[in-house]
Amino acid sequence: HLFSLQISFSDLISSSAQQGEVESCTRRKVKRLLSFQRYCHASRLLRGLVAHSPGSMHLLDDNYLGQAGHMLSKVSTWNFDIFLFDRLTNGNSLVTLMCHLFNVYDLVHHFQLDMVKLHRFLGMVQEDYHSQNPYHNAVHAADVTQAMYCYLKEAKLAEQLSPLDIFLGLMAAAAHDVDHPGVNQPFLIKTQHHLASLYQNTSVLESHHWRSTVGMLRESGLLSHLPPDMSQDIEQQLGSLILATDISRQNEFLLSFREHLDNQSLDLQLASHRHFILQIALKCADVCNPCRVWELSRQWSDRVCEEFYRQGDLERKFDLEISPLCDQQTDSVPAIQSGFISYIVEPLFEEWHRFTEASLLSQTMMGHLHKNKARWVRLRYAHTPSHTEDKESERQGGGDIP
Ligand SMILES: [Zn+2]
Repeated sequence: HLFSLQISFSDLISSSAQQGEVESCTRRKVKRLLSFQRYCHASRLLRGLVAHSPGSMHLLDDNYLGQAGHMLSKVSTWNFDIFLFDRLTNGNSLVTLMCHLFNVYDLVHHFQLDMVKLHRFLGMVQEDYHSQNPYHNAVHAADVTQAMYCYLKEAKLAEQLSPLDIFLGLMAAAAHDVDHPGVNQPFLIKTQHHLASLYQNTSVLESHHWRSTVGMLRESGLLSHLPPDMSQDIEQQLGSLILATDISRQNEFLLSFREHLDNQSLDLQLASHRHFILQIALKCADVCNPCRVWELSRQWSDRVCEEFYRQGDLERKFDLEISPLCDQQTDSVPAIQSGFISYIVEPLFEEWHRFTEASLLSQTMMGHLHKNKARWVRLRYAHTPSHTEDKESERQGGGDIP
């Protein structure tokens, strides 16, 4: 059980008192890692609402946003640097981006949203991402949201989408990993985390991301003015979108997508078909890192592998079997990345490319994907860590590895 685990971790850590500072830091980290934020603190209602700075209601003011505001004018470009945007917004990339996109699509007006509630909801979502996670943090959520926006603008899709589709697509992207603990489902199962039994070992994380989102929607009252059947429908559709990001269901979606394309059976006039394409678009946005320009792509690769290795280190420390891809000694970043691209990313984006009828964006993404894959394969056989290899190549003034 979570609590017994925490106690035994604390005991183990505090038994070696001489390691002082380092260990207390480790203890905090372990505690943070295993205790989901929502269960760690009292309800937000007891804690009080998310704090607002006086300027926060003027997020869309260009003067207030400065350079970040300038970046927002290019938010639909594929080489958008979300890391820079996050720095320019003082770590508020997700809230700032969502507010901007809601205005672009006039969603506040269309759904008669209360700006204060919207801001409160988005603040909760952003805050419930764990900033300590190297990968599954609010910047990843903002990155997926920005990719989702690019996909919603695809010619094949843009004219068919209703305001509700767009609202759902953006909301699901922003919240799809909320409160992610930085460890995977097998880890939660083998440490008997209460969420694993709550969700019966199936889509444990994704179910938690969804239910947390619903909790925050209700707590913020964002949809409380809508008819109950409509807000219920929104909650259900958000669930279906977020649950589609479970990578273990990859084949199910890929086969169904391929079948639709082979038979030309997609009819985007149908709400159910649009929903299916939103699921696919969110799945693409979630794994699109290798389709970004190398300088951005590599940062994501290093981050996701760092998160895997941290899980592996925890497993080693507590005598659990080390999960696949989580052993820093045997699973190199280039090996993990080339496998991820070949088995997950490439098959999905090949179909997406077909769906968009080889749009300009798809061509760009496929171009990056193939170049990045080749680069990881070369690095893999160079037997050196990606950083060293990459810096070496930059020093030589060339992009490519010999
Ligand atoms: Zn994700």
